[in-house]
Amino acid sequence: MRKERVTENIYVFTSEAYAQANAGAIVTSEGTVVIDTLPFPRETREMLEFLRAESPRGIRYVINTHHHADHVYGNFLFEEADIIASERCRELLRKSGEKNLAEAKQQNPELLAEVKLRLPNITFPDKMTIHLGDKVMRLLPLPGHTLDGIGVYIEGDKILFAGDAVMPLPYIFWGDRTTLQDTLRAIKEMNLEHIVQGHGEVLLKGELDETLDAGIAYLDRIYEKVKAKLATRTSKERLLNEITIESCGFSPIALDGLVKQLHRSNLLRVYQTLTAKTR
Ligand SMILES: [Zn+2]
Repeated sequence: MRKERVTENIYVFTSEAYAQANAGAIVTSEGTVVIDTLPFPRETREMLEFLRAESPRGIRYVINTHHHADHVYGNFLFEEADIIASERCRELLRKSGEKNLAEAKQQNPELLAEVKLRLPNITFPDKMTIHLGDKVMRLLPLPGHTLDGIGVYIEGDKILFAGDAVMPLPYIFWGDRTTLQDTLRAIKEMNLEHIVQGHGEVLLKGELDETLDAGIAYLDRIYEKVKAKLATRTSKERLLNEITIESCGFSPIALDGLVKQLHRSNLLRVYQTLTAKTR
């Protein structure tokens, strides 16, 4: 796990074991708020030990940005904290969390053996604000990667924890392309200092517009390219191989090369959406 201090009291913890997944923490005089909890207990414990030592008033809240495993499996280790999420996030975890966890444990028996699903116990329908110490944290919907996605905006610091709404490559396999474009446009209007992405490096003010525009353009490109291939009756397999990530404006090296797989899944999602409509 890698630890980075973004401002005096705001930290980001990056997994070295799974897809550079990020968790964060805001330490205030009235207690600490944690954002997402990483997938593997070994790394979550490192973060927890550091935060317990840094937090004179303890860890009060954990916020989950969405229901995916790499953001919620560490929840159970934060025994002292309430877990906050959107109502949709809790509902998705309640419905399919146990089944997905059982499957994940088969794939990663050693790393996940002790994980117990812990559901959010405080939920909200749309927006929510936490006032703690001198911090104001606004929880707001950022759908597109998934429909339950939220972000956490730290008002005074102008930092947005964006969850997977912002990633080194936009990722819509479970989500919706145009919804994510609207979300990225809305983020662009926020006049931020930093964005903490769900995975990968913290983004700095000077690179925000360019990064968000590139994501919006990418989501147009994959749609146009898949549509053009379908018009020439290209098979699914060929289409997935021929529309490269580079041809859609992105490098294949981010997240240790994982973005190539994400790109393929994005193409598949667009393909499924387009073929479902025309049939
Ligand atoms: Zn994720």
